[in-house]
Amino acid sequence: MEKTVHIAVVPSPGFSHLVPILQFSKRLVQLHPNFHVTCIIPSLGSHPSASKSILETLPPNMNSIFLQPVKPKDLPQGGAIETQMQFTVTLSLPSIHQALKTLTSSTPFVALVADPFASEVLDFAHEFNMLSYIYVPTSATTLSWSFYLPILDKETSCEYRDFPEPIKIPGCVPIHGSDLNNQAQDRSSQVYKRFLQRAQQIRLVDGIFINSFLEMETNPIKALKEEGRGYPPVYPVGPIVQTGDDAKGLECVTWLDKQQVGSVLYVSFGSGGTLSQEQITELAYGLELSNHKFLWVVRAPSSLASDAYLSAQNGDPLQSLPSGFLERTKEQGMVIPSWAPQIQVLSHRSVGGFLTHCGWNSVLESVLKGVPLITWPLFAEQRMNAVLLSEGLKVGKRPRIGENGLVERVEIVEVIKCLMEGEEGRKMREIMNEFKEAATNALKEHGSSTKTLSQLALKWESLV
Ligand code: UDP
Repeated sequence: MEKTVHIAVVPSPGFSHLVPILQFSKRLVQLHPNFHVTCIIPSLGSHPSASKSILETLPPNMNSIFLQPVKPKDLPQGGAIETQMQFTVTLSLPSIHQALKTLTSSTPFVALVADPFASEVLDFAHEFNMLSYIYVPTSATTLSWSFYLPILDKETSCEYRDFPEPIKIPGCVPIHGSDLNNQAQDRSSQVYKRFLQRAQQIRLVDGIFINSFLEMETNPIKALKEEGRGYPPVYPVGPIVQTGDDAKGLECVTWLDKQQVGSVLYVSFGSGGTLSQEQITELAYGLELSNHKFLWVVRAPSSLASDAYLSAQNGDPLQSLPSGFLERTKEQGMVIPSWAPQIQVLSHRSVGGFLTHCGWNSVLESVLKGVPLITWPLFAEQRMNAVLLSEGLKVGKRPRIGENGLVERVEIVEVIKCLMEGEEGRKMREIMNEFKEAATNALKEHGSSTKTLSQLALKWESLV
């Protein structure tokens, strides 16, 4: 009988950090039924309801250990979301250590896989005789940036956003400093110092998974694998996305059923992105004036773009819409407060474009469905993704931000028309369809990402 290969994974809080590592684990045990994955789950307060359903439907060869939730009041007040995520894990370290001790006392575990914000737990790997891995739920470009950061930090002293030229990260599309991730925008901040520290530590692990695939990020992946750079092995295993529940009969799907093929623009800012009141107003008028059909997931306004990411918002999002908007657009569009069944929406034949905040999961979901993008980044590494998509891969159109800090209605109309009816949009759709095919192939039995994951699984098996 085949021996069971035991792996432990540690996510960090936040829907788009918890769900991807669970999906990765699911894929691992589906491809290799002799594997068993134990998820040790830190949380900040209670889990958002969207992740509960995913946690409740794990396959039999996966199980979860829910740690005592960290109380928001125990975290540094007013900290950035990255700080909150990392501190939640830091405060959970004693219970993670205890869980690993208990698990490994009766069963040998081969590997410990952690989310980047949970990478501190990898210090325990050696103690429990496990190999250490990071599952990066973002792009090869973002990982390349993390590796390049310590070099650039040594060579330069000014803020990256003040560099006159775009920064040339090995293998990547040049990125202007102001488009780098939030953590790199203020080099004197604690957030930056922690980011730099993590960037130095990730070089020491046994391997890094990225949720990308060779055919989409060929050059960044090649650069990551180049010998002589001293990086740990990098394994592109994506695109791994959630599968989505059955959404038949839901109001928005019934509405989509009535629309023409490729006619609807889906508008969503991820699991927790928010806009200011002024920006919601501009977006509403932009959608209305574009005369295109739309399906818009609206959240209550906030001056902090990541406001709803780690905690639920209060307030009725519909109250923030301009007066008469819903009545005037009742034939043109549909507005959903806070949450949509995104996978089903993107899979629907009526959806022809996606105005997205460029969260990496949303990007990959759109790639897998061949839907081209309007790239409207808000926080985290989303601006880097926008550069990759619009300037590198040419599958997205990025709106200009006006001098008042807003994307104004005229600009919104222009990018919608460009995507939904222009020649540029047609070309973007064509390229996106090529990536869709490549993504589907990468996940097939002999596809690049499947082979990469299976080769590593074989290595782990040989260690049991
Ligand atoms: N999502 C969803 N419905 C929504 C908003 C988001 O199902 O109304 C899902 C989406 O499909 C994706 C995830 O939430 O899987 C968002 O992850 P992403 O990396 O795009 O953005 P983040 O939440 O990290 O900002």
